[in-house]
Amino acid sequence: MTSIKNARRFLLSILFAVPLLFSCAPMGNPGGASSGVQRMYVINCGENHTNDLSRWTPGQNVGRAWVFSDHCYLIQHAKGWMLWDTGISDLVAASPKGVTNPNGLITAHMPKPLAVSLKEIGVAPADIKYVAMSHTHSDHCGNANLFTAATLYMQENEYNAAFGPEPQKSGFVVANYERLRASTVVKLNGDHDVFGDGSVVIKSTPGHTIGHQSLFVRLPKTGPVLLSGDMAHLVVNWDQARVPTMNFNQDQSVKSMQAMHAFIAQTGAQIWINHDKEQNSRIPKAPAYVD
Ligand SMILES: [Zn+2]
Repeated sequence: MTSIKNARRFLLSILFAVPLLFSCAPMGNPGGASSGVQRMYVINCGENHTNDLSRWTPGQNVGRAWVFSDHCYLIQHAKGWMLWDTGISDLVAASPKGVTNPNGLITAHMPKPLAVSLKEIGVAPADIKYVAMSHTHSDHCGNANLFTAATLYMQENEYNAAFGPEPQKSGFVVANYERLRASTVVKLNGDHDVFGDGSVVIKSTPGHTIGHQSLFVRLPKTGPVLLSGDMAHLVVNWDQARVPTMNFNQDQSVKSMQAMHAFIAQTGAQIWINHDKEQNSRIPKAPAYVD
């Protein structure tokens, strides 16, 4: 019986791995090196532990403990390195038991600082030429201050909320990203093709925050992928267009998900949900890469 179960589990793992098969050859794709995206590193950027999942799944899972993964995505493009999301602050790594939010709902963990993960890949923060964050919550902009050499891409309304007089009203902690105030910034009002070749496109997906955005990446072998940001925290929320209670705007959240479902139908993209630990268990992590 056990061997049958194991065989089935193996089969399922193979089946579900199929859309996520990647080549990790160290030489990459020399033939395609002159343009577009060459590879992407999915970096473990910490975890958020909660004692009540129901805040993300209204009406369900009251009092249920849950672990959300947290990722940063380093994209190698012919024009330079781009970082999407900067994870939980490296400062949290100094606290082995994690750091609990003032409301007691979430404990953030950062087992390995982002700076260390980048070093293992062979990239220094100053090498990053382009940086964008899905939004300005602390688990996405925790290490933003490392990337002052990069051009920042932000929706204008998110920028105004983050750098305006009252960022705390949006749940933003300015200390996380204060140094980017002096950065070169491209303020967006909608979608934006970062490199002008269609390979990396910022998609405006407001709702979780006022200027939330997601990222479309066209990988050379894996094909198109949409990086969710916090448009949805779980695959099941994405499938059901279910909105957490803490979102900035519930209607916008639903509309953004509907628009991205249509976009995915059009492009054939996979959606990779940043915080869904189970889905991410099937995606190779840095220092391996996807291409
Ligand atoms: Zn988040």
